[in-house]
Amino acid sequence: MATVETSTGTVVSHWIGGKPYAATSGRFGPLMNPATGEQIAEVGFASVGDADHAVASAKAAFPEWRATALSRRAEILFRFRELIAQNKQQIAEIVSRENGKTMADAHGEVARGLENVEFACGIPNLLKGGYTEQASRGVDVYQIRQPLGVVAGITPFNFPVMVPLWMLSNAIACGNAFVLKPSEKVPGASVLLAQLLKEAGLPDGVLNLVHGDKVAVDRILDHPDIKAVSFVGSTPIAKYIYETSTRNGKRVQALGGAKNHMLVLPDADINMAADAAVSAGYGAAGERCMAISVILAVGTVAEPLIDAIRERMTKIKVGPGSDPSSEMGPLITREHRDRVASHLDKATAEGATVTVDGRKNPLTKQKGFYLAPSLIDNAKPGMQCYDQEIFGPVLSVVRVDSYAEAINLINENPFGNGTAVFTQNGGAARQFQFDVEVGMVGINVPIPVPVAYYSFGGWKNSLFGDLHMYGPEGVQFYTRSKVVTSRWPNPSSSKVDLGFPQMR
Ligand code: NAD
Repeated sequence: MATVETSTGTVVSHWIGGKPYAATSGRFGPLMNPATGEQIAEVGFASVGDADHAVASAKAAFPEWRATALSRRAEILFRFRELIAQNKQQIAEIVSRENGKTMADAHGEVARGLENVEFACGIPNLLKGGYTEQASRGVDVYQIRQPLGVVAGITPFNFPVMVPLWMLSNAIACGNAFVLKPSEKVPGASVLLAQLLKEAGLPDGVLNLVHGDKVAVDRILDHPDIKAVSFVGSTPIAKYIYETSTRNGKRVQALGGAKNHMLVLPDADINMAADAAVSAGYGAAGERCMAISVILAVGTVAEPLIDAIRERMTKIKVGPGSDPSSEMGPLITREHRDRVASHLDKATAEGATVTVDGRKNPLTKQKGFYLAPSLIDNAKPGMQCYDQEIFGPVLSVVRVDSYAEAINLINENPFGNGTAVFTQNGGAARQFQFDVEVGMVGINVPIPVPVAYYSFGGWKNSLFGDLHMYGPEGVQFYTRSKVVTSRWPNPSSSKVDLGFPQMR
């Protein structure tokens, strides 16, 4: 990781113009190891001047990068892909140390991020436009896609590698220069990605990083040279990013929070549904935007399903991500762990049943930010555990009488990121896919994160903007189209004609 040694310790530096750049603001945040509860280093927070410097570096690099041949851009991305693969262990270690997720999960994240680089390697094909010959006599019309200029990405703590790769792979491949503001809680992996891109041959200034908080973000949103902003994070901030960026005339895609429902119909295979609920509810300590948060158990399925979930969840080994036997790590910060745990008391007070209380695990008494898997039964709309995004290892079960009641709950929910149905009935699954007002749907698949050649995005309060992230819509987001109408007339046939051009 690019760091600077100072008299007070190690500081994670920005990356501007192809090299580490020490923060000038005098403001720092702690970089914590959630598994030990100890501080590892400091993160230098960008000032407005630091952010301006990053944007200026990107602006200077843009003209030459935009003119670079597509085959050369693809060559750099292919090399970047190889370098990520070669360094995946180091990347995963940084992710696990700063975020807390297990090494297996960190490797999974790197692999899913890599898919986005692989998609972007196909940029010569992705930027092909349409061509119409003889739209009129001797007139051809064609569409080309051109980069926007300097574009920015602002990313959350829960995917320190994958989400930056969702954005920067396509943005750079399309010929833009990119400024990334990663989560200040997990800054290390993106610095390593910047180093690898340089090693892959990316010209200096095409990718720049600034670490920090609202100061850096607000400068990105205000800066006149930034043409588009991609954001992934919580809903209130996503809404703020969308409103501020659009007011400032920028293109924006802002992905927000989630409350993902898993609908289990009475004919579902109980063991398969329980395996999926536990994996998707407690994987990454529930800190995935596609994690299952609510189980809608229809009719008689509730009792056997809850028994099967309880049996599985109590066997999950919670521990530091660096221990290969750990299946679930700590949460990101002490404050977040305490907030997640507070939902358990509130659920009891509101009349739900805390069936498994993760606070009873002795690990919660240690310095790391642990909370073992927890299960709330008899949750209902109007209760905090149902109404709010918990973003931790707490699953809530809502018992419903019918499919109609279940679909109504999902569709009335203000979030619409992901959802899943578990059933053995193809017709029921198809009806669910038709009815549900959610952007990403799984049929017997609990975390339906689309592959890189589709696009990722929720509906309702889970996405502000028009285009989803990565895949074909990512290419659309990072380019604007130009339509050219072209004629090569014989000069001898030229004449003045004030009529409106007609095609027939
Ligand atoms: P967050 O919204 O707190 O932070 C995201 C980014 O915004 C960070 O870079 C942070 O520095 C910045 N930020 C925070 N507060 C800000 C403010 N007041 N002004 C300007 N910038 C600010 O989110 P998080 O806690 O890092 O991540 C967890 C959230 O992200 C969850 O809500 C989760 O559902 C969501 N998420 C969504 C997706 C998705 O694809 N929809 C994916 C991952 C995470």
